[in-house]
Amino acid sequence: MATLDAIIIGAGFSGLYQLYTLRDQLNLNCHLFEAADEVGGTWHWNQYPGARCDTESQAYCYYFNKKIYNEWNWTERYPSQQEVKDYLKFVAKKLNLFRSISFSSNVKEMKYFDKTNKWKIQLDGGNTFDARFVIMATGCLSSENLPIIANQEKFKGKILHTGKWPKENIKFNDLDVGVVGTGSTGIQVIPEIAKTVKSLTVFQRTPNYSIPARNQKLNLKELNLHKNNFEYLKNVSINNRHGHPWKHSTTPIHQVGSVKDSMVLNKAWEHGGLSFRDSFSNINYDECANSVVSNFIINKIQETVNDPVTANDLSDFDYPFGAKRPALDTHYFETFNQENVKLISIKKTPIDSFNHNGVLVNSIHYPLDIVVFATGFDAITGSLLKINIIGKKGKNLKSEWKKEPINLLGLQIPNFPNLFTITGPGSPSVLTNMPRAIEQHVDWVTMCISKLINMKKNKIEASHSAALAWLDEVKLESERTMFLKTSNSWYLGTNVKGKPKGFIPYSGGLDKYTNICNAIAQNGYKGFIIS
Ligand code: NAP
Repeated sequence: MATLDAIIIGAGFSGLYQLYTLRDQLNLNCHLFEAADEVGGTWHWNQYPGARCDTESQAYCYYFNKKIYNEWNWTERYPSQQEVKDYLKFVAKKLNLFRSISFSSNVKEMKYFDKTNKWKIQLDGGNTFDARFVIMATGCLSSENLPIIANQEKFKGKILHTGKWPKENIKFNDLDVGVVGTGSTGIQVIPEIAKTVKSLTVFQRTPNYSIPARNQKLNLKELNLHKNNFEYLKNVSINNRHGHPWKHSTTPIHQVGSVKDSMVLNKAWEHGGLSFRDSFSNINYDECANSVVSNFIINKIQETVNDPVTANDLSDFDYPFGAKRPALDTHYFETFNQENVKLISIKKTPIDSFNHNGVLVNSIHYPLDIVVFATGFDAITGSLLKINIIGKKGKNLKSEWKKEPINLLGLQIPNFPNLFTITGPGSPSVLTNMPRAIEQHVDWVTMCISKLINMKKNKIEASHSAALAWLDEVKLESERTMFLKTSNSWYLGTNVKGKPKGFIPYSGGLDKYTNICNAIAQNGYKGFIIS
């Protein structure tokens, strides 16, 4: 391979679009390396039963190309994992991207050389490639978090993690299965597994607020409505906080009176989906308003679940709605009314150990054939830190980020010139509909590289002081929200042992963030060092 202008790492939503813009809009010599054997990113690895997107299909796709938008026909309100993967394959084929992608190519190490202003990328197996620019499109939720539990090696059954689900068809029929974790993933996988198992034991450390998804097949009329309203959907999505194609309410919860409050909430509940969070303007900012919504959901759980002890365990929240990412579900709470399903609260007594045929909790043995860990991810920073990244003067990213993920706008890291992170820490990323945040980042990076080339400059790098100031801004924004009203969430990094604690994404909203990024670019990339 000839010397490259740019290397892109990861073939999910970010990487594919970045490859297209750099290769076909800027005419750069680019190549993309992907660890998996297919496109898809997180949607490749998370192929567990029930895996489905929480964003509605008309918005969980690229908006940069209207023709492609019109050619693809989604079949359901929320796309399944397989359908998202099929969609990405379709886009990659349409844009003729496959010829610039190497699959089964895991990047192990990358090092910057000041003398040549080049990055050297090394794959597992030893092959190396040089490029001036590197774009990390490694995903926010791509590094699985597998708990270490004593005597795991003694277990004779199968241990699976939802984030690295095997390709083979796993049969649960007539088996005793345990699921650990009740976040968005657990809430999706539990009702699916419960359909065929002999018994399902759910080990819950923290209950999760969940809203009915109310998934359904899309008919031609709905599909055409989305296509005919493309410009409107696009406009609404990029000009709001969360990147979804609806406007959030401007009415605070107590302004309309409690009877009306509950009518609005009931309507949003019946409609289903994440727009429930936006049925009032102050749910995520005002504790009193939030408690109305939290109690509304608690009542729904208690009405749904027959066994009062299980109902209490499922709704015993020690944090407000929205402090952790709420889930969408399809009959999650109803699943606990099945005779073959039981909930074990491990809040006070964690899983103690495995033995050859199950796990022990509080000296009670639970016999199991399969244990499914739906225990989430080392989010946002995990997939970056899995690679040994060495910047200027031998600076290692792991050491640089030991205390906090210092970066500017989630786009660049001081001492790592010409390295860009798509939806990196300190950007709205996971707090938004991801394709909107991704397109905004990719467009910004593409414009930045284009300007550098036109100005005949060699490199761009975040300044240390600007990056620190940005981290202050990220902290300040988070203090205005409910996100800090829990001591434990993957947004805070507390789910991973040894990870620095601090709210990672930017919570000021995608619209505000986009304006900041654009202003910085128009202002000669203030805060970045160009040389
Ligand atoms: P998660 O939200 O981090 O949930 C992990 C679950 O595992 C939590 O219940 C956690 O309990 C539990 N857990 C972790 N370590 C444990 C341990 N050692 N012992 C017992 N329990 C343990 O992860 P996730 O459910 O995979 O979801 C992560 C994010 O991915 C979501 O918030 C969402 O943004 C995204 N996602 C999206 C979709 C979708 O669009 N449909 C689907 C799945 C995931 P604690 O809460 O006590 O830590």
